Amino acid sequence: MAARIPPRTGVAFKLRQGQTLKVIDVAGEQVSDLLAFSAQDPREYISSGRSIDYASKIFLTRGDALYSNRSRVLLRIIEDTVGRHDFLLTPCSADTFRLIYGDADPHHGCQGNFEKALGPYGITGDQVPVAFNIFMNVTLDGSTGELRVSPPLSKAGDYVVFLAERDLIVALTACSAPQSNNGSFKPIDFELGGIA
Ligand SMILES: [Zn+2]
Repeated sequence: MAARIPPRTGVAFKLRQGQTLKVIDVAGEQVSDLLAFSAQDPREYISSGRSIDYASKIFLTRGDALYSNRSRVLLRIIEDTVGRHDFLLTPCSADTFRLIYGDADPHHGCQGNFEKALGPYGITGDQVPVAFNIFMNVTLDGSTGELRVSPPLSKAGDYVVFLAERDLIVALTACSAPQSNNGSFKPIDFELGGIA
């Protein structure tokens, strides 16, 4: 049975080695930022740089691995109905909304939701790395490197399934940034599977 993350919020939970995590875009065009930390030692966490380096590409999909800063596979993508996600940009935050959107009274964003959800696990905001931004559609100019945040390609019911290759603490949001979600905020569903 799926659990629901309400718009502009986040959750954290344990995921055991061998378990699967299915992340579902309920309404379509909604990004979900994902973080994973080793349950044994949260100083080990998913690394955008290492994952992109080892895959030799920036768009990860089915079969690709999310490596840690210690070069071990934490999660592997085993199903993906969309095929376009981002692993370059940081979680949206109050500073994102202040600097990019010019908000005077900014929302706390995925960063704030990660801090709230991960606090009980002893993980602080300074330990939040670049998230794997599920369904986020960042397009780029290959010659200048200029980035653009475009509407997600995901439609209602699209999903990604990850397999945990270690015992993990996982955090997941329904992203709060207008640009990333084509201007509206929707929920995200997730399901844990495999061994209990
Ligand atoms: Zn966000």
